[in-house]
Amino acid sequence: MARIAFIGLGNMGGGMAANLAKAGHDVRAFDLSAEALDRAKERGCLVAGSAAEAVAEAEAVVTMLPAGKHVRDVYESSVIGTAPSSAILMDCSTIDVATAREEIEKARAAGYLMVDAPVSGGIAAAEGGTLTFMVGGTDEAFARAEPFLSVMGKAVIHAGSPGSGQAAKICNNMLLGASMVATCETFVLAQKLGLDPQTFFDIASKASGQCWSMTSYCPVPGVGPETPADRNYEGGFAAALMLKDLRLAMEAAQSVDAYTPMGAHAEELYTRFADRLGGAGKDFSGIIKMIDDSWKAPEGSNPAAPPPGMKIGYSNQMDTPGDPGDLDD
Ligand code: NAD
Repeated sequence: MARIAFIGLGNMGGGMAANLAKAGHDVRAFDLSAEALDRAKERGCLVAGSAAEAVAEAEAVVTMLPAGKHVRDVYESSVIGTAPSSAILMDCSTIDVATAREEIEKARAAGYLMVDAPVSGGIAAAEGGTLTFMVGGTDEAFARAEPFLSVMGKAVIHAGSPGSGQAAKICNNMLLGASMVATCETFVLAQKLGLDPQTFFDIASKASGQCWSMTSYCPVPGVGPETPADRNYEGGFAAALMLKDLRLAMEAAQSVDAYTPMGAHAEELYTRFADRLGGAGKDFSGIIKMIDDSWKAPEGSNPAAPPPGMKIGYSNQMDTPGDPGDLDD
């Protein structure tokens, strides 16, 4: 069994660190939050006083942090040059591709093997050890990381060179965000045309419109398997996190000059739902309530100032693609 440093014990990291400890590893955990550290201690981890203390004698380091800037801070101040150079470094946070590549290169230059290994699956999958890891790094780094990641997940896939895990994650989530919006507006239209949602689900699930956002995660309550829609859009994958991933995807698209009009529309819609209309904490499928005009924005949210190209009011229609304004964008 290995000595593992685990940094970032939030919603996701808390369950992941506990699974490593449950598997018999010696987990030295650190988080800025005292509450998160108490929970980790109750779940079999040893608490470290700092990130540097956690990594000091580690054979493996796992980080699960909010964003690129936290990852950069932690690796540059407390991991690279502090952990033994024989340690395998695994960043499981969802961050921008550029920072992931930079940190892996800095680690490589200092003699470490490091992978980016973001996850698909939410808090329940982190607790249950059923995450899917998308891993970027050399063959050698992947081979060293895989045994640790497989304790926390049901699938560990080598996506390619450094940064490829992040690239796969944001491409997947851009597709998911766009397909969820398309599923929502389709069900709203079907209902307005007089179709029963269950009947339409039965038809489209067996027809060419079939997609995961509909068949496995239907945004309409009572239709298809049980989903957050059946719990008033509580739990699941928060709209704020979908928006974070869509922003990362747009940033990455810009960096390689890729044209992603559907991703851009999805980002605008989630910006409106999460940032302006107070839907950030709801499951991302809750955006259907904005599309069908039944969303009641909580007090304090700011529905004013829609993003460019979007009209306020009935059904929040965007300008049609044929509008000359769009062609100039
Ligand atoms: P979270 O905010 O619950 O947890 C992050 C933790 O990092 C917090 O406990 C915070 O105190 C800690 N932290 C921040 N800076 C730190 C530092 N310098 N040193 C030590 N600890 C520090 O976030 P989360 O939901 O657990 O998500 C973590 C990552 O996983 C994010 O990148 C997120 O995008 C990704 N992700 C989340 C989900 C989800 O459903 N929550 C799903 C897939 C991927």
